[in-house]
Amino acid sequence: MSVFDTDIKKLYGVGPARAAAYASLGISSVGDLLLHYPRGYEDRGNIKLIEEADGLSKYAHILTVATQPKSVRVKGRMTLTKFRAYDDSASCEITFFNQDYIKNLFAPGATFRFYGKVEKKAGRYVMSSPAYEPYTEESELLPLIPVYPLTEGITQKQIAKDIRSAMILAATDCDEGDVLPEEIRRRHSLCTYSYAIKNIHTPSSFSALAAAKKRLIFDEFFIFALGLCTARAEAKRALAYPCTRSDLRPLKKVIPYELTGAQERVIEDVRVDMCSDSAMSRIIIGDVGSGKTVCAAAAMLFAVQNGRQAVLMAPTEILARQHYLTLSDIFSRLGIRCELLIGATGAAQKKKIYASLAAEGDDRLDVVIGTHALLSSGVEFAAPGVVIVDEQHRFGAAQRAVLAKKNPMSHVLVMSATPIPRSLALALYGDLDVSVIDEIPPGRQRVDTFVVDESYRERLNGFIKKQVSEGGQVYVVCPAVEENTVGEEEEANLLLCDVGVDGNMIIDEETGSPLKSAIRFSEELANEFPDMTVDFIHGKLKSREKEAKMAKFVSGEIDILVSTTVIEVGVNVPNASLMIVENAERFGLSQLHQLRGRVGRGTRRSYCVLVSQSANKEGRAKERLMTMKNSYDGYEIAQKDLAMRGPGDFLRSGDDERLRQSGGVRFKLAELCDDTGLMTLAFEEAKNTVANDPSLSLHPKLKDKVSTDFTLEQSFVN
Ligand code: ADP
Ligand code: MG
Repeated sequence: MSVFDTDIKKLYGVGPARAAAYASLGISSVGDLLLHYPRGYEDRGNIKLIEEADGLSKYAHILTVATQPKSVRVKGRMTLTKFRAYDDSASCEITFFNQDYIKNLFAPGATFRFYGKVEKKAGRYVMSSPAYEPYTEESELLPLIPVYPLTEGITQKQIAKDIRSAMILAATDCDEGDVLPEEIRRRHSLCTYSYAIKNIHTPSSFSALAAAKKRLIFDEFFIFALGLCTARAEAKRALAYPCTRSDLRPLKKVIPYELTGAQERVIEDVRVDMCSDSAMSRIIIGDVGSGKTVCAAAAMLFAVQNGRQAVLMAPTEILARQHYLTLSDIFSRLGIRCELLIGATGAAQKKKIYASLAAEGDDRLDVVIGTHALLSSGVEFAAPGVVIVDEQHRFGAAQRAVLAKKNPMSHVLVMSATPIPRSLALALYGDLDVSVIDEIPPGRQRVDTFVVDESYRERLNGFIKKQVSEGGQVYVVCPAVEENTVGEEEEANLLLCDVGVDGNMIIDEETGSPLKSAIRFSEELANEFPDMTVDFIHGKLKSREKEAKMAKFVSGEIDILVSTTVIEVGVNVPNASLMIVENAERFGLSQLHQLRGRVGRGTRRSYCVLVSQSANKEGRAKERLMTMKNSYDGYEIAQKDLAMRGPGDFLRSGDDERLRQSGGVRFKLAELCDDTGLMTLAFEEAKNTVANDPSLSLHPKLKDKVSTDFTLEQSFVN
């Protein structure tokens, strides 16, 4: 048994009461205690003169006691103990409260390092209850004093002392128990584990602290990455039919455009995966409009070229229909048989499709496109080749599992339009191979974006009128469903801060303006524009109703569609030329980008208007909205969003199921957006390690560590 496992109560001075307090911090062993890292450090190595203090921050001062401390009683039970101390610049009055005993600690002539805030009151320097350490020229005081997360019943001093005894106890075990392979440690000039533990708690300098952090953060990423990679290695062992005949040329001949470089690259990733007899499990991440569908078409073509079948599942009937229209047009010219299977498909037609999917020989159906109707029990494939899931975040894990089960020996490709920075993609989709389409097809129009406040309302209404009279259609997005509800589905999409409920109205505290609700606002617009068709959709409607209304908008029967954030991802309404977002400050940038992607999909010149009271106030909200005006690149916007809001917020408000459920990736020290360089290194090392030793049997210590530290919850593998 290692010292790390020793019960915390065995530490000198830790009795039942303190052990109970430690337990509430999740600390029960010496190892737990050593992994209880400081949340910050006091910079006591940077000594300032009294005169140099700014009255705002705490600093370290080396002062000599000038007067004998004196205690006075005030306000009944309170005792003040005061004395004066000086340095070369000035003298300062130091006060302690209710600590009568300190009288005996501070003898005139003795020198201490004090740490506290020096303020000037009535022309005199004063300092209250500073931290203090006896000081002599020879004393080697630590420059950085750790500040630990605390709980009731434990003080900073006690924790620091217990950690010191734990370090002494565990000194040798630290490096013996180190899980990081020595060659990896050396390759990246990482310090030893014992050095890291010592200097995270009692850093001898800033650079020692930096080295310690680098090492420990690397470990966190490395273990996380190993967990993902071993999980993936396991999944990889699933066999699939190798599609070795793969010729892209026929597809290129029938599409009316050239593939972008990014599409070529992604299709090549897919082709290589599908040639192998171990199952592809890849995600394509590409901004809205980046052209993922044709990559899916390529994967389907490769399957069919090898006598296998392909299935594409979309989250809604409208999307499935749109895919069917696009793809059946392409496939018919390639002699590939393709059918649509959705809930609305008639019973007779369904039967026919079931039969032809299971058929042998010439009668066999090559490609089927559909919704979750594809999951029904009648669907059986004679020769499954590739399974493709579009807008994967809209499906539950169970649904994906059913589809995979129906398609044994199949390659799997999922597609997502959530633009996330590469560092996050690695962490979130580490169990999948990631291909990114980072290029938008040429000639795509920019959606002109404006940020306005309420004073523009009249002009905005005029603009709506103009768009509709010219044959365009308008989306209006509101944060709330009804006057006093945000709705479950919508809530997850809104920024969580600042919403207060005032009476029955939801008020945006930052701007004081009420949140616009889809239902109410559609009534207002219907009054404003009596000769237009106005309708609304939101997350509380049944999905049938939502689809029906959406279909009406697609066909042009509705002029203005007022909606919450539930408007369909990926639906193409080429006529839609204006997107208005109300209370725009409530939405995440990446989400605004997704919303904006709903317009400008045809030849009509298109506009996006962000309405917000923040528009006339300098501040973070306005800065965020101006990012939308100035940038059209989903990745750049995601990166800004990440930098401004931090990964936690970013992950929570994403519309991806994985992101939402995760509540943020939790590491002790590592920050996803700050440490991407280290993260990439750790992922590379983990990949190599697993490539050479898939089950980590050559690295038993690592294997142990991964199995205790890496949880499915942390990994989002579902
Ligand atoms: P998404 O990635 O959002 O699913 P789609 O696959 O629906 O994007 O493509 C959006 C539009 O761009 C479609 O009309 C498609 O025909 C067109 N498109 C795709 N690739 C290209 C390309 N390389 N050049 C020009 N247009 C393209
Ligand atoms: Mg799409």
